[in-house]
Amino acid sequence: MSTDPAADLPFYYGSISRSEAEQHLKLAGMADGLFLLRRCIRSLGGYVLSFVFNLEFYHYSIEKQLNGTYCIIGGKAHCGPAELCEFYSNDPDGLECALRKPCLRSLDTPIRPGIFDSLRDNLLREYVKQNWNLEGEAMEQAIISQAPQLEKLVATTAHEQMPWYHGKIPRQEGERRLYCGAQPDGKFLLRERDQLGTFALSMMYGKTVYHYQILQDKSGKYSIPEGHKFDTVWQLVEYLKMKRDGLVTVLGEACVNSQAAEKAPSLPATRRSGTNGYTPPPRASVESSNSTDSPLCEDSEGQGMDSNPYHNPNEVKKFNIQRNLLLIDELELGSGNFGCVKKGILNTKAGQIDVAIKVLKSDNEKLVKEEMMREAEIMYQLNNLYIVRMLGLCNAENLMLVMEMASAGPLNKFLSSKKDSISVANITLLMHQVSMGMKYLEEKNFVHRDLAARNVLLVNQKFAKISDFGLSKALGADDNYYKARTAGKWPLKWYAPECIKFRKFSSKSDVWSFGITMWEAFSYGGKPYKKMKGPEVMHFIEDGNRMECPAACPENVYTLMKECWTYSHEDRPDFKKVEKSMKSHHQSMLKQSGGAAAAAEPVK
Ligand code: AMP
Repeated sequence: MSTDPAADLPFYYGSISRSEAEQHLKLAGMADGLFLLRRCIRSLGGYVLSFVFNLEFYHYSIEKQLNGTYCIIGGKAHCGPAELCEFYSNDPDGLECALRKPCLRSLDTPIRPGIFDSLRDNLLREYVKQNWNLEGEAMEQAIISQAPQLEKLVATTAHEQMPWYHGKIPRQEGERRLYCGAQPDGKFLLRERDQLGTFALSMMYGKTVYHYQILQDKSGKYSIPEGHKFDTVWQLVEYLKMKRDGLVTVLGEACVNSQAAEKAPSLPATRRSGTNGYTPPPRASVESSNSTDSPLCEDSEGQGMDSNPYHNPNEVKKFNIQRNLLLIDELELGSGNFGCVKKGILNTKAGQIDVAIKVLKSDNEKLVKEEMMREAEIMYQLNNLYIVRMLGLCNAENLMLVMEMASAGPLNKFLSSKKDSISVANITLLMHQVSMGMKYLEEKNFVHRDLAARNVLLVNQKFAKISDFGLSKALGADDNYYKARTAGKWPLKWYAPECIKFRKFSSKSDVWSFGITMWEAFSYGGKPYKKMKGPEVMHFIEDGNRMECPAACPENVYTLMKECWTYSHEDRPDFKKVEKSMKSHHQSMLKQSGGAAAAAEPVK
C-alpha cells in the first residue's frame, strides 16, 4: 500500500540530501539535462528533481497533490513521478532545459529509505488495529481503502515514535533532561507544550538551553519562526539536522526519552486539539531559556468538527459540517433527480480528505429534501467497511450529504471499461465484499431495496462499497419485511417477485437483487434481461425462466446466482449463507491461482 511509486526508477535515490544529489551529478559529468530524482523531505509523498544546466544545479520540488497526482508547482499534473520525468524529457515547459540524461544509481548505491519509510507499515497496521478494531483481511482492506488518508494521519503522529520526542513535559523538565549527561552543541528534544497542544524544540548550545516554538500555519504546515515549512514535525526535525534554518546551530545528538523507550510504541487514539491544521499562525517567537511559554491565539476556525471521521469511523457523529471546512470541486461524479454528486475536500483535524458530496438542487421540492434527509438518517446508522460511510451533512447554499469517496466509481461502468484486465477471481473478491456488506445490513435489520451494480462503488479495483440508500428502510424489531404503500419508480429488473406482486421488501428480496448484481458483475457490466421491459421480465420469471450463466462466470458461482433467484423468499438463502458461499468461491479461486490473482493486494 505504501510502495514508493518511484522505487523502480534507476535514477531515483530515495532520501538523500541536496548536497549528496549534487555530488552524484558532479560525478556523472555535469552534462546539460543530467538529472536525478530524490525524496522530498519537506512534503509528504513529494519528490525533488535535481538537474544540471550550464554547469549549475537546479532543484525543483515535486508535490503530491491531494488527488494523487504529482506536479512541479505551477506545472502540469502527472499521474506518477515516472510520467512527470518523461514529460519533462520531451518538453522543458518552464524548466531551464529538458531532462536529457538520467544520472543512474550505481549498483552499490541502494535507494536510501527515509526515516518514515521504515516506520510507515507498522504504524499503519497498528493504527487500524487500535482504532478500527480490524485484523487480517479486513485490516488490509481498510489500509488499501484509506491509504492516502491513513498515511497522512500516521505521518502526522510519527514523531511520537521518535527517541527525541518527550511528550507533554514542562519547559523546566525539558531543560533538566538536556542538562543530564553530556551537553554537546545541538543536543535536542521535542516536547509538547502544556495545554496548548503545540510543540517546542529545546536544544543545547554553549551549555545553554534554547527553546524554539514550532508554529503551524493555516494549512497545517510546521515551521520554526521564519523557517521553511514542513508537512510533519519529524520532517522539520530531519531538515533541521541538516540545515540551521534560523536555529543557533543544526540539530545534533538526540536527547533520548528513556521513559518512552521503555514502553512499546503506540499511537494515540485521538489527536489532541490544536494540532488540527486550522490554527492561525501564532506569533513567531524564539524563547529564551527563562521566559515562560507564551499563549497562542485562540483557535477560531477549527471548531467545526469535534472529531475526524476517518480517525475513528466507530465514532462518526451526526455532526453538521461547517461550510468553511468543505471545498467543493466543479467536477461532477454523477447525478440523479435530487441534484448531483461532486468531488470535494473536507478539512479535518488530521488533514484533508477526499469526499463525495451529494448536493441537493436548490430548486428541489420539499419531498426530495426529505428523501435526502432520510437517506442520511439511514447512512448515519451504518458502520461497515463495505458500505459507503456518511461523514456528515452540510446545510449551506444547498443541503449537502458528505460521504467518503469511492473514486473508482460504479462497479458496472468500471467492469465494462476494463473487460480485458479484470480477472474473474477479482470480480469474486468484489462480490464477496458486497455480500459482507449486505450480511451486515441483514444483521442490522435494514433493507437496501436498490442493490445493483450501479450502486456498488469502488474505492479501487479490489475494494467495493455499497452505496445509495435512497430507498432503504430500517425494519422494526419484530418485522421481517417492509411493505411499500404504493409502487414507485422502481428498478423492477432487480426486484424479487414478492416486491412487485405484494410490495414486500426484506433482506431476502435484497438477496434476489444481489443475484442480479452478481450477474451484472460476471458479465462485466452487462445489462440484465437485455432489451426486455420490466413487466416482460415479470412474466419471464413467473414462467420459471432465469438469465443464463454469463460467459466468464464459473458454474458454481452461477449456481449461487440461481439460488438467489429462488422464487419463494422462504426458500431463498439469506445473506449469511450467501456470504459464506461467496467466501468459499473466492478462497478456492485463490488456491487455484496460487493466491496471487485476487489476493487483497494494494493497487498502485
Ligand atoms: P447516487 O444518487 O447515490 O446513486 O449517486 C449518483 C452517482 O454519483 C453514482 O453513480 C456515482 O457515480 C457518484 N457517487 C455517489 N456517491 C459517491 C461516492 N461516495 N464516491 C464516489 N462517487 C459517488
